[in-house]
Amino acid sequence: MVHELLKMRRSVRLAAKTISEVSSQSSNQIVRLKARSKSTKGGKKTNKDSVYKKSIKRNRETSSTSDCDENECKESMVNCSGIIEEKIKPKLKRVKTEQDNSTVIASGNLQQPMLQGKLVGAHVSISGGIQNAVSEALKIGAKAFGLFLRSQRQWKSKPLEDKAAELFKQACERGGFSARAILPHGIYLMNCGSPEEETLAKSRETLVEELKRCEKLGLALYNFHPGSTCGKITVEECIDRIAQSINEAHLQTNHVVTVLENMSCQGNTKGNAPSRVTIPPCKQGLSLVILHWTFALEVGGKFEELREIIDRVEDKSRVGVCIDTCHAFAAGYDISSDGGFDKMMQEFESVIGLKYLRAVHLNDSKGELGCHLDRHENIGKGKIGINAFRRLMMDPRFNGIPMILETPCEAENTYQKEVKLLYSFRDGKS
Ligand SMILES: [Zn+2]
Ligand SMILES: [Zn+2]
Repeated sequence: MVHELLKMRRSVRLAAKTISEVSSQSSNQIVRLKARSKSTKGGKKTNKDSVYKKSIKRNRETSSTSDCDENECKESMVNCSGIIEEKIKPKLKRVKTEQDNSTVIASGNLQQPMLQGKLVGAHVSISGGIQNAVSEALKIGAKAFGLFLRSQRQWKSKPLEDKAAELFKQACERGGFSARAILPHGIYLMNCGSPEEETLAKSRETLVEELKRCEKLGLALYNFHPGSTCGKITVEECIDRIAQSINEAHLQTNHVVTVLENMSCQGNTKGNAPSRVTIPPCKQGLSLVILHWTFALEVGGKFEELREIIDRVEDKSRVGVCIDTCHAFAAGYDISSDGGFDKMMQEFESVIGLKYLRAVHLNDSKGELGCHLDRHENIGKGKIGINAFRRLMMDPRFNGIPMILETPCEAENTYQKEVKLLYSFRDGKS
């Protein structure tokens, strides 16, 4: 009997010890969570809801936020969601790690599954209605496409009609184009870093208007040329203005990612006039007009400048970069050789970060390395040469993002041939 009693007392003691250890571990976890929440907001108190929102936001995008590095964010997300699941909101169990690309958490196009493989296409015409862009892309065998959202030759444009937006969305769905494979291009008149107040105001208004158009069309990305000093302000001042334009536009819109295109750093030799107007003599009805507005000191030729813009953008999940191969070559990145290609990518990774790579413009260059001229050439026919494009197509870092041709469309089947050629590189067939 005494033996039985001693056995029971020992069991009770052991049980009490276990309970006390478990509860102290839980409170340690909560203390760690609180400490992390404070540290990630620069000492500001973060409540449970904002921790949850942050978890979702980080899960939605691979980009890190401004106030913590990527690794810390990932760890914080897992820890936070784990504790929230157990202690606070069991229904949040569907928050998964960012490796799970198929997770759908909130509404919006950013929640679409990540796309695999190479998504090659071309900039196509919206002549006759924006929905026609989809059939143009299908004609050339594209898995991605670029487009203007409206006439890019004037500031003002007719509002996008509900019916046109609906037709476009239906056509994309039928054609199998995810929002992640479509890269609209901003109008060339915009200069979101302009020293002129009137141009700056118009550019900012246009940026918001175009982002809203993207939202209405169900799109996720929006590519534009960062801006130019016009020789009247410093690069730093211009970068400040560009970042402020983006921040203001983000506040007025919901989810579209603003994608900064690297530039060739053209100089302004003709004042505020377009330096080139290209109307490809394409028989298939493409009325693509490439109007290159050259500014003095285009910002964004150097990766460091793009990084500085990103640094000043508050919502890092809504900013990215598009590498235009012609612009990179003209700005001095020698991608024509294997060594030069590797060097550019290493620089991109170390200066900007691969997580910001959202798109590619595939163009050979008429101009020489470092010429600072924006002269697109057909793939393999310019100074960059075929090797760089073969490298691009075999490099997994370019999987799942739109790769858009903006080469001269000299014949009805130019894009079709180039898309086929590029896919043959991927398959190791040429
Ligand atoms: Zn462009
Ligand atoms: Zn481009």
